[in-house]
Amino acid sequence: MTENNNLLEVYDLKVHFFTDEGVVKAIDGVDMNVVNGKTLCLVGESGCGKSVTCRAFLGIVQKPGRIVSGQMLFRQNDRMIDIAKMDPKGQEIRQIRGKEISMIFQEPMTSLSPMYTVGNQIMENILLHTGASKQEARERTIALLDQVRIPKPERLVDEYPFRLSGGMRQRAMIAMALSCNPTMLIADEPTTALDVTTQAQILDLMLELQYKYGMALLFITHDLGVVAEIADEVAVMYLGKIVERADADTIFNHPQHPYTQALLRSIPKIAMRREELDPIKGMVPSPFRRPTGCNFNPRCPKAMSVCREIVPSMTQLSPGHTVACLLYESNIKNRKEGEQA
Ligand code: SF4
Repeated sequence: MTENNNLLEVYDLKVHFFTDEGVVKAIDGVDMNVVNGKTLCLVGESGCGKSVTCRAFLGIVQKPGRIVSGQMLFRQNDRMIDIAKMDPKGQEIRQIRGKEISMIFQEPMTSLSPMYTVGNQIMENILLHTGASKQEARERTIALLDQVRIPKPERLVDEYPFRLSGGMRQRAMIAMALSCNPTMLIADEPTTALDVTTQAQILDLMLELQYKYGMALLFITHDLGVVAEIADEVAVMYLGKIVERADADTIFNHPQHPYTQALLRSIPKIAMRREELDPIKGMVPSPFRRPTGCNFNPRCPKAMSVCREIVPSMTQLSPGHTVACLLYESNIKNRKEGEQA
């Protein structure tokens, strides 16, 4: 992951939560990369660590969690800087957060302050990160609201968030995220709280703006329908690890990891009867009682006895297609002996 068009390169990222009950390894060795101008979808069930991973990129992991190891190399003016080494409250990360990397959250009502007008909140970001005057910031805010197709933006700029519908609030959040022309936009399930029609409009808008600004888009979702619509590449996550990564066509047509295959089988189809549904069996294990070996082994239809003993490592199946499953590792016997020694 070096001589390339990567905007972000992540190596062996670990984020742990230190609770009274024990340590929760929310992110347990994530390797990934985000390519300039492309859309990467991070998918997986709730609680698999998608949101924590993205919060780590912005240095906003909530306590009692913290980054315990790993590198997050972000491209800034032709050099790679390690975000993992930055003080989460320091000046360096503040220059990146909200300016070069922006984030849109799932529920816009909780992300926008009810105490300030929509315009004030967007203007604050512009004033913080650019040398704009108040008047310039206000004009830019109105232009941004217009760009995200909010009607009568010159009036709405002075409204409070509770006066807006869910879809309009999410449009305002997108305007805020774009206010400083970020090179990377992280969207954490931005359409989950919206009805289907508004969801489709917001997705179209985001893709249009991504194309216009040439940003990289890291899109977190558990909705494979959304992934099929927008992804260039897909990373599938399970219990704090990436288990498969490939371009969208490969993931949908030739998935190799048993978890990815099970996720795709579980998508309900129109006219499917209830008894024909094929959910993934079992539950996501408690974070305090992770299985030994492969995390997915208690639920995996292809599990072997060795799967309870060895943690799979990433295997490259073809250029750009990697999978963490012992079915594809040729040296299991050597690894088993090595781990027992
Ligand atoms: Fe299933 Fe074993 Fe592969 Fe894990 S390593 S996904 S348990 S076959």
